[in-house]
Amino acid sequence: MTQVNIRPSRHNLYNTHIIPVRFEYFAPSSLEEALELLNKYGSEAKVLAGGTDLLVKMKMRVVEPKYVINIKKLKELSYIRDEGGEVRIGALTKWRELERSDVIMKYFPALYDAVKAMGGTQIRNMATIGGNLCNASPAADSAPPLMVLEARLILASREGEREVPITQFFKGPGKTVMRPDELLKEIIIPKPEPGTGSAFIKVARTAMDLAKISAATAVKVEDGRIKFARIAIGSAAPTPVRAWKTEEALKGKPFTPEVIRENVKLVETEISPIDDVRSTAFYRREVSKVIVEDALILSHERVVKGWMK
Ligand SMILES: Cc1cc2nc3c(=O)[nH]c(=O)nc-3n(C[C@H](O)[C@H](O)[C@H](O)COP(=O)(O)OP(=O)(O)OC[C@H]3O[C@@H](n4cnc5c(N)ncnc54)[C@H](O)[C@@H]3O)c2cc1C
Repeated sequence: MTQVNIRPSRHNLYNTHIIPVRFEYFAPSSLEEALELLNKYGSEAKVLAGGTDLLVKMKMRVVEPKYVINIKKLKELSYIRDEGGEVRIGALTKWRELERSDVIMKYFPALYDAVKAMGGTQIRNMATIGGNLCNASPAADSAPPLMVLEARLILASREGEREVPITQFFKGPGKTVMRPDELLKEIIIPKPEPGTGSAFIKVARTAMDLAKISAATAVKVEDGRIKFARIAIGSAAPTPVRAWKTEEALKGKPFTPEVIRENVKLVETEISPIDDVRSTAFYRREVSKVIVEDALILSHERVVKGWMK
């Protein structure tokens, strides 16, 4: 009999953390039960939604929760409701459900662009929009569109609920204003004023990768002048950011390619990009201006030429 000498691969020698640390697991069947558990275990616990960020981090031991609270059974947190003036999205709604929603496509083109640009079908089948926001990556694809669409977030705890505008939600990479006993319950997006167009553009190394740089815009033009232009940039600062100064500079000006190109130069003063595995600060600074310009033009074009894929 031939004896096969199996030597451990280089990969196995260096990556031994295939199994995360031991943790206690809960799968509450109601929101009330989940909030009770969060109230009890607080910062020692982690909420598990789709797991596409959390499980990766647990395997790499970047996070080592003592308690994992799987909220997948909470069907009451998975919905897209058109309520007239606004649309309410449950935090546990999967990206795939957003992709299939006529409401998202009809009213929120920028968010719909982000959905199409996020991961692949397998990831969109598992990952939730709430997980994307709570993971608080500067590159989170849902953040820039929700920022220009002026979304508000409902945070729930045993004490009750509070509403936070998305522009105030992120505090740094992996950090938000959420307390350890709080859960993101719902995202509320007001329907844009008639005549508003929006778009999201993402530049990534490959189709399945996180953004090197991304931008979302929403714009309304009246009598040839910019009534408002909202701009948000991803992957260019410790959190996704609104480009308030550029927005202010554009207000009231004629919507022409020259005016847009001149004014988007301000964008680079509102971001603080870094060099990392995905890109360089230089590239991000230069390309941010280009994609903001393109997104503004695309947003307006969608009003003039019509939008519905
Ligand atoms: C192959 C691959 C490709 C990817 N591509 C992209 C991409 O293109 N764009 C992109 O933006 N992301 C991408 N991601 C990252 C990830 O899929 C998304 O961020 C996803 O939306 C996370 O959702 P989830 O439900 O899986 O979150 P989870 O992993 O379950 O949770 C993420 C974090 O949020 C917390 N959390 C989740 N839900 C709640 C809640 N309701 N209340 C409080 N805290 C909560 C968890 O405790 C955890 O800290 C990719 C990931 C992989 C593995």
